[in-house]
Parts: sequence; C-alpha cells; structure tokens
Amino acid sequence: VVDIRGLHKRFGDNEVLKGIDLQIKRQEVVCILGKSGSGKSTLLRCINGLESFEEGALTVDGQVIRQHDPAAMRELRQNVGMIFQSFNLFPHLTVGKNVMLAPTLVKKMPREQAERAARALLKRVGLEEKFATWPGNLSGGQQQRVAIARSLAMNPEVLLCDEITSALDPELVGEVLQVIEGLATDGMTIIMVTHEMGFARKVADRIVFMHQGRVHEMGTPEDIFDNPRTAELKQFLA
Ligand code: ATP
Ligand code: MG
Repeated sequence: VVDIRGLHKRFGDNEVLKGIDLQIKRQEVVCILGKSGSGKSTLLRCINGLESFEEGALTVDGQVIRQHDPAAMRELRQNVGMIFQSFNLFPHLTVGKNVMLAPTLVKKMPREQAERAARALLKRVGLEEKFATWPGNLSGGQQQRVAIARSLAMNPEVLLCDEITSALDPELVGEVLQVIEGLATDGMTIIMVTHEMGFARKVADRIVFMHQGRVHEMGTPEDIFDNPRTAELKQFLA
C-alpha cells in the first residue's frame, strides 16, 4: 500500500534521506528504529506529503505522489493519518468536536453522522465518556488517544505514528500502545517510529533500522533483536 523507491531528501547541503527503498503491504505493522537524526521523522513526513523530496518515487494506495499537484496532495493527506509526539488537539473544541472536525469540514459529512462516528471512535480508544470534555481536562495519555481517534475519523489507509509516547509519563505509555496494538489486530496498516522496543518486538511484523539516512537493516523482530548483523544495529540495541 506504500511503495518507496530511491527516495532522496536534502535540507540544503544536508542529505537526510540517501535513497530509501521500502515497500509496505496492507495490514502490515512496521516499526522504525534508529538514532536521533537518522531521518525517521523526515521519512514519515515525506510519506504523508508534509515534506517534499528531490529524487525517487512514492506511491500510496496505488496513487503516484507528484508534488506540486495540490489535488493529489490533498487526497494523500486524507489517505494517510499521522500522529505526533505532541497531541495538538484543538484546545477550544471539545473532545467530540475535535474528532468530528475533519470529517465535517473536509468530507462534508453530515453532523449527526459525524457525531455517531466520533462516539464510536472514542469508544474504540476507551474514551466514550469524554465526548463533551475539554482536551485540557484530560491526561496526556487520554489526549493522545483522542488524537488517534481524530486521525482515524478520516478513515485513513495508513497510520503514521512518530514517537507518539515519548512525551508521556511512563505510567501513561501503556494505554496508548494498547490502542495501537488493538488497531494492528484489527488490520490497520501502521508505520511507527518508536523507542518502545518491547512493543516493537511484540506487535511489529517488520522492523526497519535506519542509520544516517539509509535503511541499514530490516527484518522480523527476531532478525533485528536476536540476530542483528551490523555493528551499527548492535551498538544501537546495546
Ligand atoms: P529524532 O530521533 O531526534 O526524532 P529523526 O531520526 O526523526 O531524529 P529527522 O528529524 O528526520 O531525524 O532529522 C534528520 C536530519 O534532518 C537531522 O540532521 C535534522 O537536523 C535535519 N532536519 C530535519 N528537519 C529539518 C528542517 N526542517 N530543516 C533543516 N534540517 C532538518
Ligand atoms: Mg524524529
């Protein structure tokens, strides 16, 4: 469902992605590991069109992503949901309205239908009783689960997660990972940058280890965690 070939990305003289090749199948869960600065966030941002790239080809859900094509980029952002470390909920909207916003605004979904969908999604992330609550009155873990529900409201083909538990107190990490695991079980295609090795080992179908802008090693969790081949991965895991 995501096909990346020879992707290069530069920021000025800094070549951040040096030819990424990565194919991700429908319903696959891929965890991306790597040191700070290895290009993980940049790769995710390229996949959902937040970042342009100089070379290479990107296909999402059968659609070739051409930059400078506003209609294609709009459709891409609808097909690809992204969740960040910071939850970025709209503070002046209730939890329910946060989840309803994009479907009503972008998809022109009728209000009642959007509300029904939002309630179902909030139930899925374990927050059905928070529909009318303000984001500021929720814990970080709850806010991040609302952000997940909001992302799912657009019914994306692929969900991108960029260190979504890094800003959370340790005791709140589990509830967010549990929601992601549930989505994985339900067959969502997920690409997730994470430092949660236990989660990656348990939930990922495939692990990608990035190093200096390249896919340095890739394999099943057993390959990566139990039989790392390169010195760089061994050092990263140590
Ligand atoms: P981290 O684990 O710290 O989040 P990362 O693997 O996600 O790191 P990226 O954020 O993709 O790394 O950054 C890769 C490189 O690209 C870094 O050298 C960074 O300084 C550079 N970079 C990222 N975004 C920009 C930008 N908007 N302008 C200039 N350079 C950037
Ligand atoms: Mg990052």
